[in-house]
Amino acid sequence: MLSYWEKESFLSYDHIIIGGGIVGMSAALSLRARYPDASILILERGLLPTGASTRNAGFACIGSLTEILDDLRTMTPAQVVDLVALRRSGLRRLRERLGDDTIGYAENGSYELITEGEVAALDHLYHVNELLRPLLGSEAFSRCDEKIAEFGLGETVRHLIRNNHEGQLHSGKAMRALIQLCLEQRIEIKTGAEVIRVEERVHYAEVLVAHTHLAEQVAFRAGSVAICTNAFTTRLLPDLDIQPGRGQVLITKPIPGLKVKGIFHFDQGYYYFREIDGRILFGGGRHLDFEGERTESFAHTDLILSDLRSKLASIILPHTPFEIDYTWSGIMAFGTDKAPVIRHHSPHIYLGVRMGGMGVAIGSEVGEQLAALMVETKP
Ligand SMILES: Cc1cc2nc3c(=O)[nH]c(=O)nc-3n(C[C@H](O)[C@H](O)[C@H](O)COP(=O)(O)OP(=O)(O)OC[C@H]3O[C@@H](n4cnc5c(N)ncnc54)[C@H](O)[C@@H]3O)c2cc1C
Repeated sequence: MLSYWEKESFLSYDHIIIGGGIVGMSAALSLRARYPDASILILERGLLPTGASTRNAGFACIGSLTEILDDLRTMTPAQVVDLVALRRSGLRRLRERLGDDTIGYAENGSYELITEGEVAALDHLYHVNELLRPLLGSEAFSRCDEKIAEFGLGETVRHLIRNNHEGQLHSGKAMRALIQLCLEQRIEIKTGAEVIRVEERVHYAEVLVAHTHLAEQVAFRAGSVAICTNAFTTRLLPDLDIQPGRGQVLITKPIPGLKVKGIFHFDQGYYYFREIDGRILFGGGRHLDFEGERTESFAHTDLILSDLRSKLASIILPHTPFEIDYTWSGIMAFGTDKAPVIRHHSPHIYLGVRMGGMGVAIGSEVGEQLAALMVETKP
């Protein structure tokens, strides 16, 4: 049994956030800005955050040309512009909140590789630039084929497009800085706290966590509870339109004289690579096995890793010897619709989930909108 003291002093909060990724931390900070004296708790199941926020590629991106063209097939132009705007405002908020130096933000250029099969995309470059111009104030994409040789890219790369509004950051530094800021702002964080159930009660929501050492569940309670568990949300609310999508990543050992600098996408954003500390970080290939990659497992597969290895050798580093240092994977969340879910779910329970492959960009803005919703609809 919990003690009298534990029951009296450890279980009740004004707000509880479930999930300590970028969205959960951002929502907590946005709540703090509105409620200076409220008690706020973040419950994170992992010893470290264990989803996508510390396992991604750190692209501060608004979308590549072929990704936006693909979006235009299923979304209206206004919806596409709204999504780019969400990414822009999320990135601005993250940078203003933490500072560029703190998160290792840099604008070393952002590029999309165009292969033979995608050359037709260039016909739409002007149209997409005009679509985004009112939002961005200048051209989103411009051609820079002369850089193909400078970066030493493979022969299959026919064209290179520069995205003029993107940058890169250090995801580890950004997440550490968010944690630090939460602690400075008296937001409690409990790690190793996996929420098993969230239930509505008459005046509050109850959040049940298995005690790590006693054979019982700990029932936290709060006036409002925000679920920010992204790909893992259906374990708590099974009926939501959310599916996990694994992203596998490899990193090379440092490569002397590496020519590649900046961030790069190809194949509608399904592949992405960047230089970091003289190494190449390269990930993607989920579309090679959509079904198999619809998983919460942090494993990797030979199918995708061997594809990444071969593209690394033929497209990214065709004339440069390299060694792969190690690999990892992270889990994203997708749905039939590309927009995130920011919703008042039930009287005391809110959702900020389904960030797709763009949570670094939109996460801070999603947290802000979620906090605003929690204030507006306070029970
Ligand atoms: C390989 C890869 C590359 C990516 N690259 C980029 C990129 O370059 N740019 C970009 O914008 N986006 C990128 N993304 C996407 C981005 O990382 C995610 O969209 C974003 O991190 C999602 O943040 P989140 O806070 O919603 O979810 P998460 O970071 O997954 O956080 C959710 C947290 O909830 C915790 N949790 C889950 N269930 C429970 C529970 N029951 N109880 C308690 N805690 C729980 C998890 O442990 C986790 O820490 C990438 C993702 C991956 C995997």
